[in-house]
Amino acid sequence: MAQIKNIGLFTSGGDSPGMNAAIRAVVRTAIYYNIEVTGIRRGYEGMIKGDMFPMDRKSVSNIIQRGGTILKTARSEQFKTPEGRKLAYEQLKKNNVDALVAIGGDGTFTGAKIFGHEYDIPVVGLPGTIDNDLCGTDFTIGYDTAINTVIDAVDKIRDTAESHDRLFIVEVMGRDCGLIALRTGIAAGAEAILIPESKTGLQAVFERLESGRKDKSSKIIMLAESGEAGDAFEIGRQIKERFPNYDTRISVLGHIQRGGRPSCMDRVLACRVGVAAVEALRNGHHNEMIGLIHNEIAYTPFEHATKHNTDINPNFLKIVEILSI
Ligand code: ATP
Repeated sequence: MAQIKNIGLFTSGGDSPGMNAAIRAVVRTAIYYNIEVTGIRRGYEGMIKGDMFPMDRKSVSNIIQRGGTILKTARSEQFKTPEGRKLAYEQLKKNNVDALVAIGGDGTFTGAKIFGHEYDIPVVGLPGTIDNDLCGTDFTIGYDTAINTVIDAVDKIRDTAESHDRLFIVEVMGRDCGLIALRTGIAAGAEAILIPESKTGLQAVFERLESGRKDKSSKIIMLAESGEAGDAFEIGRQIKERFPNYDTRISVLGHIQRGGRPSCMDRVLACRVGVAAVEALRNGHHNEMIGLIHNEIAYTPFEHATKHNTDINPNFLKIVEILSI
């Protein structure tokens, strides 16, 4: 096993709060073990273009508390082609990079898995996405901050909903994944939750509204984006049609969910998996995501990490039903 001398580090896909804490952890751990770090700007796009620079201890000072990513992030169509990946490999060789740490989500690890099989360069990944949609970790970096941002917003929406006796449909992020909606729905005391993983769909929401308390002045329905039933405006239209007496409003929270100072949980998670990533490379791991399962570091091959986790805990939906009576 060749000794690793220079780790290429990048963030890719959607940004998430805590990515900076993970960058800091990887850089400082590498330096601790006398390994150089090359920062790669804008994910695979920067790799292909050779947009790389040496990182030192000071280059990650004062970033642990900042949202976003100092390495910037991007999506690259070119990396999906063999020609694009060849260019990326050539740039890595030119910059003497002999291992990679990728911070990102599902798509990032799919790219990393293909690259790791095509070229002789060990790659490990850190789960950086607000969606929490990866297998091989209980939580992803950014999820905790995002759900706290959502409940702050929904608490404020509840104030105005209560004052005006309104029903609000609140749409939150989570591509094909309802975990943000599910947890925040429970935490914000929502009347109903509509997520892609639930088999019952919009019909169940109608039933909740029909059977629920009529004297309750405000109602919140949490909706995960891109579900089969349509977006918040389409669902709002159907609810207005079916329940014309409700004063229905829509709120799409959008990109505020990605930003802001990372929570303590996200920072600690980022630090733990960041340290573990460098140690994993030193110990010969490759093509694996480093996560945390039951509070212990876990190593999951990329192909298993990227399998969509569609199993939601049915008790969570039951909790919403019981607690919103
Ligand atoms: P998030 O879940 O936060 O959106 P992500 O990592 O899933 O993050 P994507 O945009 O899906 O974000 O993927 C990031 C990048 O990974 C893509 O722009 C592309 O460069 C690379 N990638 C995705 N799928 C593939 C693939 N099949 N082959 C090669 N590269 C890929």
